[in-house]
Amino acid sequence: MEIIHRIAMHGTIARRRAFERLGVELLRSDPDDESSDPFVYADVNESHPNWRDIQALLKQWRLPDVPHTEFTDQEIDAAEWAALSATAHHGYPQPRDDEFGYLEVTYDLADYCEKCGVGARQRAPFRMKGEPRWGRRHVLQMHWVYDRLFVKPDVWSDVFAPCGVKSLPVLDAKGATLSTVLQLDVPVAARMRCDGLPSEACEACRRVKFNPVSRGRMPPLITRHGESLALTEQWFGAGASAHGAIVASHELVEVMRTAKLRGVQYHPLE
Ligand SMILES: [Zn+2]
Repeated sequence: MEIIHRIAMHGTIARRRAFERLGVELLRSDPDDESSDPFVYADVNESHPNWRDIQALLKQWRLPDVPHTEFTDQEIDAAEWAALSATAHHGYPQPRDDEFGYLEVTYDLADYCEKCGVGARQRAPFRMKGEPRWGRRHVLQMHWVYDRLFVKPDVWSDVFAPCGVKSLPVLDAKGATLSTVLQLDVPVAARMRCDGLPSEACEACRRVKFNPVSRGRMPPLITRHGESLALTEQWFGAGASAHGAIVASHELVEVMRTAKLRGVQYHPLE
C-alpha cells in the first residue's frame, strides 16, 4: 500500500522553490496562469525520501494535506472485506429546494440530527435529475450521499443479484421511474471495531461519529449478518455530513473485479 498526500496551494515563488528543493514537482492547475502565485498541486508518497522535511513545510505554512491510500491488487484480493466507494460523484439528489429538499423526500428524519447529520433512515427511492450519463462507468454515487451505490440494471442482474444483493428503483425529479439506473439495497448489518479511531461527539445529540479513514486499512468487522454487502452501524464524516461505510465480502469483491466494473474503488479492512 502507498499513502499519498495531495498538496495544493497558491504557490509563491519562495514556496515553490522550497518544495522543488525537496524534490516535489508542483503542477499548475491552470497552465496559462501567469500570476506570481498560481494554484499548484502535487501528489507525494510517504515513501518519498524527503517526506519528513516536506511534512514540516506543510505544518509550518499550515497548508492543506489530504492523504489517501492506494492498495495493490494483491492487497485487495487478500482482504476478507473491503469498503466500496465510487471514484467520482455524479449529480445531486433531488429535489434541491433549499439545497437539501431531498432529505425530507427520501428519508425518515425522526432520529436525524441537523448538526452532525447522524440518524437519517432511507424510506423512499432517491431521485435524480434524469437518466445518468454513464460514460464508461458501471457504478456511481451522487454528491452528498456517500453511503449509497447506483448501478446500471444489467450490472445489478449480472453481478450483484447472484450474490444476493437486492435493488431499489430510482426516480426522476417528477417521480417517474428511471430505466437505466438502480440503487443497490444495502442493509445496515455490519458492526466495525472502531475503538481508537479519531471521533467527535455531537454538541447537540451527543452521538459519536468517526473521522473517515484515509490512511491505511479500515478497522475489521466485529459482527455481520450474512449479507455480502452491508452498511456499518457506525457513522463516519465531518461537519454536518454523516454516512455509514459500505462493506463488501471477499466473494462479492472477487465477482465485481472479475466483471471489471469501472467507477468503483476498494478499501480493504484489517
Ligand atoms: Zn448530532
